[in-house]
Amino acid sequence: MEKNLYMDVNKNWFKDKINTFLENDQSNKMIRLDGSYIFEPNVLVGIVSGDDPIYIKYKEIIGDFHLTPSEAYEWYCKKQNKENSTQELSVIAYILPINQRTKDENFTYSKEMPSERWAHTRLFGEQANMKLQTYLVEQLAKLEIDAFAPALDNNLFKINRTIWASNWSHRHSCFAAGLGTFGLSDGFINPRGKAMRCGSIIINLKLPSDAKNRASDPYEYCNYCGDCIIRCPVNAISFENRHDKIVCSKHVMGTIPYIQKNYGINIYACGLCQVAVSCSDGIPKK
Ligand code: SF4
Ligand code: SF4
Repeated sequence: MEKNLYMDVNKNWFKDKINTFLENDQSNKMIRLDGSYIFEPNVLVGIVSGDDPIYIKYKEIIGDFHLTPSEAYEWYCKKQNKENSTQELSVIAYILPINQRTKDENFTYSKEMPSERWAHTRLFGEQANMKLQTYLVEQLAKLEIDAFAPALDNNLFKINRTIWASNWSHRHSCFAAGLGTFGLSDGFINPRGKAMRCGSIIINLKLPSDAKNRASDPYEYCNYCGDCIIRCPVNAISFENRHDKIVCSKHVMGTIPYIQKNYGINIYACGLCQVAVSCSDGIPKK
């Protein structure tokens, strides 16, 4: 490989690619509503080495089923019949901030059900997020850099719906890449705010890691204001038990008929604990 093919690939390259995608791709528009952005083209990007020991720790914290970047990439190489070299891997993680109008609407609309814009963000925004991962992989392929998006591979990516955990967690890669920390509600607090969606891909190129920005406490940015406790309509958050995923998921899945009936799309959503709280738009003051 000629070095000049990939020497410009760095954090800013990813930021530019993602922001340009969000500005121009129709998938990031509220096409059935007012055509505005689903995600603001003002993203955060972080990088972590594929061999960072935090991924071994995640096997203890999340479960043995959570893949290390090497495991995911080895799986991809086997499937593609490619030579397998996991020495140079980096994980690129990013934060897609939700449109302010959507956040405002999800606050004012109801104390129990998500607003229409929020439901569209959950459905069409996630489709945009998936398309973005494919786009990044394709852009890298043009530079002869191999890349893989584990969450897009239906044969690899699994969600354990008993404990609501997946074998590749974008948010945990965001934490590993120093982009933010978790909060009491399990949301991911970062400089663009907890109201976001995120993504990550694995690339076969060693880039400088942002692990130095990683907080030592996984909940460091949470100020324990309790706003999210008040916002949750089903008491799924408390200081004592933190976030009860089972209670939360029951409510979230229960929104499907409401969303179908009122907005005509087939999705679940909630996010009431992500708006009008002290960490909605950034890292809250302590
Ligand atoms: S609303 Fe307050 S308690 Fe809840 S996650 Fe945000 S900072 Fe933490
Ligand atoms: S997503 Fe909804 S149900 Fe779940 S914790 Fe947040 S407010 Fe509660």
